[in-house]
Amino acid sequence: MRRRPLTWLIPVLATAAAVTVTVVVVPDGAGRDPDGRTAPAAHGERPAGKGKPDARDVVLAVHGGAGTALDRDKTTPEREKAYRDGLADALKAGRKILDKGGSSVDAVQAAVQRLEDNPLFNAGKGAVFTADAGHELDASIMRGSDLKAGAVAGVKSLRNPIAGARAVMDKSPHVLLSGEGADDFGARHGLRTVTQDYYWTQARWDALMAAKEAERGGKEGRGGTGANGGKGANGGRGGEKAAAGAADAPASVADAQSKGTVGAVAVDGERDLAAATSTGGMTNKLPGRVGDSPLIGSGTYAKNGTVAASATGAGEVFIRGAATSTISNLMEFKGVGVATAAYEVIVKRLPGLGGDGGVIALAPNGEFDAPHSSPGMLHGYLTKDGKIVTKIFPDETPPNS
Ligand code: ASP
Repeated sequence: MRRRPLTWLIPVLATAAAVTVTVVVVPDGAGRDPDGRTAPAAHGERPAGKGKPDARDVVLAVHGGAGTALDRDKTTPEREKAYRDGLADALKAGRKILDKGGSSVDAVQAAVQRLEDNPLFNAGKGAVFTADAGHELDASIMRGSDLKAGAVAGVKSLRNPIAGARAVMDKSPHVLLSGEGADDFGARHGLRTVTQDYYWTQARWDALMAAKEAERGGKEGRGGTGANGGKGANGGRGGEKAAAGAADAPASVADAQSKGTVGAVAVDGERDLAAATSTGGMTNKLPGRVGDSPLIGSGTYAKNGTVAASATGAGEVFIRGAATSTISNLMEFKGVGVATAAYEVIVKRLPGLGGDGGVIALAPNGEFDAPHSSPGMLHGYLTKDGKIVTKIFPDETPPNS
């Protein structure tokens, strides 16, 4: 008699393997000793790289986008002041809430809303143009205490998309609403609406024209590689870079088009974390394109015990690399600190997918890091004793910092 093969053993063994889970403890101190050195990871191996955070005792941080670096020599004092004031104003708006004992989620919303109202940044007023010369805005917000989140994508008439994201989180059973449905939902919940011309700025219009020009040049010459690994100037930062590098593109145009997504991260008195991100997306993006900013786990993530993170950069790459949730997962499952985790994802892993960018990342113990693979990333932070720091030049924010 032929013996039956022991194929039944395979599912049994697989099940046994699946239930042998490792119990991990979420480190509140984010896996570091009091000197900030990274503690050994739970599994013996840990991502090597940066271990020391950029700053400590941070309660709130904002970014104003990644991209080409502002050049000290070409930046007028007025322009420098405008960027620093914009970041500082946002930090002050958030500080007002934290000082009163308010929540981190209210603080990040207030900070982002301030940046959306500032035409210098690519969010709300000042959002970039799509390929058909319109504006489609994305935003998201997340609360670390219960992992609740809300987001809007492709909105065309909400003055403050981040308020739309907050309304989705608080007043709907959903996480992400898109297009007309998101605009209508916001309007029904009393949010301010605007016509498309509200978002218009000359700098963003010039950037669209420069991108079109570069696209035409690219078609005649060689095509660019998009951040999704494919060809085409609309695919990602490839198109923007081409435009930024165009010989006759004024520096201000190049600057304007490759910066400006905004975000905020905060920790409040309860040690609750929150993160928020808002953007007009990428200059010359295809209508309907959704980037990483409204996607929880890509552009925005907050989880008590690990990290609040807001990203900026080549959205397609940040989506494919699940950027912000991977930072949290590295901290939770490998026991590494915020600086090591953020460095690992932003500097070591994502560039391999074909695009650059950065992140602001805050641990519950106030350790803060802002690594970027792009030449620059505008950002600023507020410490618990009320000090505000802004960083806009590359020598203040070296790549891979
Ligand atoms: N990440 C944004 C997007 O892809 C753009 C940016 O941050 O510059 O829509």
